Amino acid sequence: MKPFPNRIKLANLPTRIEKLTRFSEQTGLNVYVKRDDMSGSEWSGNKIRKLEFSIQEALDQGADTLITCGGIQSNHCRATAAAAARLGLRSCLLLRTDDPAPALDGNYFLDRVLGADVRFVSAEDYRTRRLEIMEELAREFAGQGHKAYIIPEGASNGIGTFGYLSCMQEILQQEKEMGLQFDTIVDAVGSGGTLAGLVLANKLYGLNKRVVGINVCDDADFFQHRISEIVTEASSYLEEPSLAIAPEEIEILDGYVGRGYALSRKEELDFIRDFARMEGLVLDPVYTGKCMYGFVNEVEKGSFKKSCNVLFLHTGGLFGLFPVKEQFDL
Ligand SMILES: *Cc1c(COP(=O)(O)O)cnc(C)c1O
Repeated sequence: MKPFPNRIKLANLPTRIEKLTRFSEQTGLNVYVKRDDMSGSEWSGNKIRKLEFSIQEALDQGADTLITCGGIQSNHCRATAAAAARLGLRSCLLLRTDDPAPALDGNYFLDRVLGADVRFVSAEDYRTRRLEIMEELAREFAGQGHKAYIIPEGASNGIGTFGYLSCMQEILQQEKEMGLQFDTIVDAVGSGGTLAGLVLANKLYGLNKRVVGINVCDDADFFQHRISEIVTEASSYLEEPSLAIAPEEIEILDGYVGRGYALSRKEELDFIRDFARMEGLVLDPVYTGKCMYGFVNEVEKGSFKKSCNVLFLHTGGLFGLFPVKEQFDL
């Protein structure tokens, strides 16, 4: 097997692991949270771990511009804009919205503060031809003497997967220091790269952990196949085809998408509020809020063994709360 690709160090690592004492008592499990929401400030969240590898590849290819895409409130796009600015690169963000004048708030506001070149794209064009549009933009920039590197949605591709492969190494080190082992890891799934890295590490190091994803869009079948593909792509960097993971080996707990991607239900926002008051930990409405809400429901259904050690990955997203503040019942 070849060594991991190189990465540029940007994230504030290792991120802390903390026990949620009241929540553990309430659920009858030992629930810990890994604070990947504290991987930075401007680039806080899970995307920076993946971007460390994607951006190194961009620099190795001589790129001076990063092009990527996401929803109007994309945490990934905001992290890319921040990392690009820090490194003296240009960023161009393709943001999905059908609103011609979206509110200047949350992540989108930060994208603008950070000087990203923002292009809006309709939900329909985003779904059917975002890669084509990013390639057109790359050609446009080439005509102006720039070299662009395209990062796919969420940096969820082969190279980005190394972010969470190395996060698992970090978790193993923290287990040693803490003198305990996590039986289960729970993570929100939006584009799949985070879970792909975790399941690949689980296989690569023979960890036998239960790695559970809770999807916030699409469905379980979609992500089982998508994550299997991402793992295959990551394995190609290691020249290790035996690391393939079949879709049915990937555990996704479906049923918590609610009204749809980035749309909230009252019970989810009430849950985020109550959880914040119980643990002083603020979840985001798009990913971690739905994921934790789903986790609690699954605990009640008996999907997790009592008194097992669970590590919940807080993947960030705080800025996404501000644009939905009017929907909160405080
Ligand atoms: C993108 C994102 C996720 C999901 O990670 P994927 O690798 O895209 O599945 C989870 N939480 C937050 C806050 C995110 O921004």
